[in-house]
Amino acid sequence: MKTLPDDRGYFGDYGGRFVPETLMAPLAELERAYRKASRDRAFQTRLDDLLRSYVGRPTPLYLARRLSAGLGGARIWLKREDLCHTGAHKINNALGQGLLACEMGKGRVIAETGAGQHGVAVATAAALLGLECRVYMGTEDMRRQELNVVRMGLMGAEVVPVEAGSRTLKDAINEALRDWVTNVSGTHYILGSVLGPHPYPMMVRDFQTVIGREALLQFRKAARTLPDMVVACVGGGSNAAGIFTAFVPHENVGLVGVEAGGRGLAPGEHAARFSGTGASGILHGTRTLVLQDDDGQILDTHSVSAGLDYPAVGPEHVQWQESGRVTYTNVDDEEAIAAFHVLAESEGIVPALESAHALAYAMKVAPAMPLATNVLVNLSGRGDKDLGEVGRVEREAP
Ligand SMILES: *Cc1c(COP(=O)(O)O)cnc(C)c1O
Repeated sequence: MKTLPDDRGYFGDYGGRFVPETLMAPLAELERAYRKASRDRAFQTRLDDLLRSYVGRPTPLYLARRLSAGLGGARIWLKREDLCHTGAHKINNALGQGLLACEMGKGRVIAETGAGQHGVAVATAAALLGLECRVYMGTEDMRRQELNVVRMGLMGAEVVPVEAGSRTLKDAINEALRDWVTNVSGTHYILGSVLGPHPYPMMVRDFQTVIGREALLQFRKAARTLPDMVVACVGGGSNAAGIFTAFVPHENVGLVGVEAGGRGLAPGEHAARFSGTGASGILHGTRTLVLQDDDGQILDTHSVSAGLDYPAVGPEHVQWQESGRVTYTNVDDEEAIAAFHVLAESEGIVPALESAHALAYAMKVAPAMPLATNVLVNLSGRGDKDLGEVGRVEREAP
């Protein structure tokens, strides 16, 4: 699996590069720069140094004893990406691509953001590396994630409100792509997940695989075995690809991706692309599984977590699903919020609502698993950004 995608950026039938003519040359340039950087000792050393001294890697592997004891059954372990600088895994990719922008001599970066975590990560990398930065964000997400809007501004980034469509991540990506087409010579677009045209799904995955490489070594050391199951939430799919990739060759390790079940599986109420309602289509430059109506129009999505609220999924995940290597399931808003509270009360850790989806699934299956088994959950981020939204949802609950 390691050599994927193929030369044209395909993971089996999915992926590729479906963009306007003006973006073909910059994508080819980006691919060349990325391939060169991934072989360049100096680039890798610079990135590794920053991941250690600035991001705080390696992030801890933590055995959640009280949570596990309360559930019975499998032991639940957490890979603590919530302890990364800026509070989520997004910084791993933002720093990698920020350094790449410097290598390519581009002084300006742009990004889209949903939960605001990617925007914050890019604004952070831009401040660190002295790059000009503009972040596109849907106004619905700006409302849900106000604190992150303030953070981006503090670091000198310009946040551009997007009023189009459902005013969430999909619409923000449209605007970012539009900006890139117009300003392509001096600008690098830092895409935030394993989405978009080749080489993004490959490159973003590679920058995130540090999560799984660390987790595998840490787990072997702590438990003298490998986990029976690794669980991660899937928005675009970068934190999941980041932790899964190292475990894919180890076939005894079950891999589970958890999507947003939202308010239920009716059209427009969820972002569960693998629930049977997604179909093959092209969105944002890549062929993948997309939530769409019979006419191929992109459906609105809903999730209590802004970071999972997106109608398509990274192309490599579709191939993982079709090959049977990874199982995909979904957890609804209520279950995620319940898990959010349980982790806070049992372990003193407030997870991001996105991560709470993965945790909720682990909590559902752990009690039926034997005592000696282990479930590893990728805790992709911390929940500070979600406190307001959880309060609001709970006040409005019937
Ligand atoms: C953005 C985000 C996600 C979803 O994005 P993926 O690319 O699927 O990882 C999940 N968790 C957190 C904390 C996020 O910020």
